[in-house]
Amino acid sequence: MSELSQLILDRIRDVNDYPKPGVVFKDITPLLADPQAFGAVVDALAGLFPGVDKIVGIEARGFILAAPAACRANAGFVPVRKKGKLPSATLEASYDLEYGSATIEVHQDAFEPGDRVLIVDDVLATGGTAEATVELIRRTGAEVVGVAVLMELAFLKGRERLADIDLRALVIV
Ligand code: IMP
Repeated sequence: MSELSQLILDRIRDVNDYPKPGVVFKDITPLLADPQAFGAVVDALAGLFPGVDKIVGIEARGFILAAPAACRANAGFVPVRKKGKLPSATLEASYDLEYGSATIEVHQDAFEPGDRVLIVDDVLATGGTAEATVELIRRTGAEVVGVAVLMELAFLKGRERLADIDLRALVIV
């Protein structure tokens, strides 16, 4: 295992029974509180897909990683937000959650035609959020070159929902 993977694993805390009984939540706040680990993660995410025009962050924890990675990669940052939070005209995509559904939005004018776009989030679980984000970005006419996450929870098989996507995870558990 790489030094970075070990550092990430050491700084992510398992929280049992959050947000509900039986779930083990991966809490990234200890990693964010360690400037060396946070910086190394941002550098790694920014270096995975050289030459992208925009980096998309998924609300909310995705913002924390995607915004500094965009700055570091000399790319623009674009927020994908929960419905109702973006002020100008949007496109939206809905996806199923375990109970109910969620809708995400992006500004219609967030991308230039042909922009090469990387999507960044903290954790890939079932893959539903990332899949909906890919669909949303593609509808704007931009090109999704990949999805990068800090941690992939392999047992939830999210990767299978992103079969046509170059998905990279800094750690897979
Ligand atoms: P998915 O749609 O099931 O892949 O869930 C991914 C989304 O839920 C991401 O935006 C994550 O921020 C969040 N998420 C799911 N599980 C965890 C976790 O254990 N820790 C932190 N975020 C999580």
